[in-house]
Amino acid sequence: MASSRTSAPPAALLAAALAAAPALAQEGGEPPTPLPAPDARAALERIAGPMRRLADAGRVLPAPVLEPGEHLLADEALEAFARAVDDRTFAREHASFRGGYLRRNFLDTEQKRGRFREPLASAFEPGEIRRFEELLSTPGALVLARGLLDNRPELARVLLHERVHREMDRLAPNESGLLRRAYDDLMNRPELPVDPKEHYGLISSVPFVRERRVPGRPGGFYEVAVAQNWSEFYPYLANGVFEPRVLDALRIDHPEAFRLYDVMRARSARGAGDGGRSE
Ligand SMILES: [Zn+2]
Repeated sequence: MASSRTSAPPAALLAAALAAAPALAQEGGEPPTPLPAPDARAALERIAGPMRRLADAGRVLPAPVLEPGEHLLADEALEAFARAVDDRTFAREHASFRGGYLRRNFLDTEQKRGRFREPLASAFEPGEIRRFEELLSTPGALVLARGLLDNRPELARVLLHERVHREMDRLAPNESGLLRRAYDDLMNRPELPVDPKEHYGLISSVPFVRERRVPGRPGGFYEVAVAQNWSEFYPYLANGVFEPRVLDALRIDHPEAFRLYDVMRARSARGAGDGGRSE
């Protein structure tokens, strides 16, 4: 959790500041006279303000730590890549391409490489474009848009998600089979009844694998994504987008698949912060 990153609780910081206050007064040449009560309260307020800000600053998420094979690239390079790669599956999986695990070389024809270079030619040096092309042609590379640095929680979320894809790609066939069977079971469970009154009479049941509703965000994107492509299920599960019953059912009804998933998630979370789970 983000709050655990704060090195000291605000109360301890405040106590330390108050303990230091007389010493500061002495350095200024003032005799350390005790303050009358109202001034003491004002002094406390004066110190508490900066201390609170200090404590808040401690809560800012650090940038996730990238591992070898993980690269931040210009946003334009990823956009050019997504447009150049004429692959239906890829286009469906990456409607807006901010990061991806490249399980194979998608820039595998001269035509695609040409389409990739063209929009970049006016904005980047030939050497830079070659470097982008090299990274984006490397099977197993994990690439992220540099613009994600402006949104650290999103960067952590994308990094965790793509790392789980990478972990899945490294599984033995029998392990993938375990995950696939658990997914099939969870996705094919009957819908759960809900009180229509709570849903404006529009629905009377919801899918078992249902995404958590977040105010201000239209729902359904993740449900569609995992229904279309089973390999999206575990990365999104790691992102915490589904209602808690989904993970509970995996843990209880598919313990072997759960253990596999949990190892993949833990490995992927290293240095990635909370991976957007508190979103
Ligand atoms: Zn994905």
